[in-house]
Amino acid sequence: MVVTHVESQIYSCNKKLKMWLYQPLALWKVVVLLLLVFVLLGYTLFLPEFCREQKGWMLFTNYFAQNENETQKLTLSDPQGTHAAFDEHYTSTEMGRSSNCLSRQEHSLFHKASARLGMPAELSFALAKYEEMHKRCSQDKNWTHAFSNPDPADTCDYLLYTEGPAGLGNRLLSLASAFLFAVLTNRVILVDRSGDIPELVCEPLSGSSWLLPADFPFEKLDHSVPKLREAYKEGWNDTKVIYLYLREDQNGDDRQFFCTATQQKLESIKWLAWNSNQYYIPRFFTLAPFWQQLVQLFPDVSLVFTHLSRYLFLPNNSIWDRIVRIHLSYFSSAQKRLGLQVRLHSRGDLSEFYPPAYTQIMNCLINNELLPNVSTTNSMAPSFNHKQQKPTERTTSVLVASLQFKYYEEIRILYMNNPAQDGKFVQVHSLSHEGREWHSLDQDIKAFIEMWLLSFSDEIATSSWSTFGYVAQGLGAITPHLLNIRGDFEKNGLPSCVVGQSIDPCNHFPFMNSCESESLSSEHSQWIQQHIKPCQDEGNGLQLVQSA
Ligand code: GDP
Repeated sequence: MVVTHVESQIYSCNKKLKMWLYQPLALWKVVVLLLLVFVLLGYTLFLPEFCREQKGWMLFTNYFAQNENETQKLTLSDPQGTHAAFDEHYTSTEMGRSSNCLSRQEHSLFHKASARLGMPAELSFALAKYEEMHKRCSQDKNWTHAFSNPDPADTCDYLLYTEGPAGLGNRLLSLASAFLFAVLTNRVILVDRSGDIPELVCEPLSGSSWLLPADFPFEKLDHSVPKLREAYKEGWNDTKVIYLYLREDQNGDDRQFFCTATQQKLESIKWLAWNSNQYYIPRFFTLAPFWQQLVQLFPDVSLVFTHLSRYLFLPNNSIWDRIVRIHLSYFSSAQKRLGLQVRLHSRGDLSEFYPPAYTQIMNCLINNELLPNVSTTNSMAPSFNHKQQKPTERTTSVLVASLQFKYYEEIRILYMNNPAQDGKFVQVHSLSHEGREWHSLDQDIKAFIEMWLLSFSDEIATSSWSTFGYVAQGLGAITPHLLNIRGDFEKNGLPSCVVGQSIDPCNHFPFMNSCESESLSSEHSQWIQQHIKPCQDEGNGLQLVQSA
């Protein structure tokens, strides 16, 4: 009886299903059902996979893109860009797309859009040729042997670079100058590995190393190698090596380096050693043998150091990882990034907290709208009225780089205790406060990280006469606001800061009158008049300026 009842129930159920299926429009119901199942499955299983593939492809193409427009899609100025750069940096290592130099592929993602610059074609071509020569001349070479026992059949020439005592900014400017000199004179540049710079940067040359072995006889350079001044005094007979002493205290005949006649003599010297703490590139443009080649390599002379530094001074992977992590943690999500670098040159203590300097800095930042003014009377922030914008969309993130902690602290307290008049928010960050400089590797690492982070700013205010600031503005291709805080600045009657006439660094000691008898073509003289100007922060200095 029970079975009969169940059977009759199944029978009646089948009948109902058949009736439902066979009645008019039943097929549509099946189609709708199937569609629903498909959409649900697709949404939960396939769509995320598909999107990930698309994003992965976008990152991949961008990774290798030379195309500036493509790169601009992944800008850190917008939140999407932040995530893309974050993904790119972290997935590239996870996915095994490791690289010897991640910063080479990634740094352009972090600069503001207008600072993402392609290298001029002539310069790319010249560097490729240079790398080729460097590789050919380095093949199977034992550098210690090659230097101590020069082979008369060797057709290559060499330039030795040692860092010498100076701050990191000075050393980087000097190395950029030495490298460009090596390119212009077709010399293989070889860098002393005992300095700190090799600990900071990726090897720049593809196909060969620019580092010398640890046992290279550098001690010989100090004692037995004649300086230029000695070669001039004692004659050039049989000279195989000359020591170029190009620091700020070089004397009379060392300065002959800047003469065409000396450059011709140097062509026959196989080994040159470069000892400098200065940026001599503007001065190279005044030398007849180099000028024409230089203007071809650098169609915009305000970007000479930018192109060279982005080729030579790319952080190695471990330093780059720190830079990216700090940038993504503290700066990338803000609507605007401001870099502030404070250093009081031509005063007894470069790292002193000097209240008039603080006032001068704030006048510059507020009067030029780099930071908002604060309301000291109205404790209710007008910012609370801005309901449409998220806080990050009206936040300026400030990086204060200084040996002195108190500049950071004062600015932070100012914006913490008082609302900005325009309703914006100001976050203030500092990464180090070393107190004084002693040029240890650890301090150089911190300084290098700060230079790079400052270079990701939208705007930057740098201290007059500071090569630290020059490097940051150059890496970032950012026209700086140059702070008038050097020496007795209160007495000079100048504004709190000026907009820089160029991004390129100032050559503080150009020794322009070293070869007075030399005459230049009128075309060259005219070009110099138009493009080489006294620096705004050093009347005796020279700076490359693009626009007249
Ligand atoms: P300049 O003296 O202003 O031309 O800059 P340099 O970079 O040549 O020398 C200053 C040195 O002091 C740097 O290399 C650092 O070692 C240290 N220093 C100066 N200012 C800062 C700073 O803001 N941050 C860090 N981390 N180090 C600094």
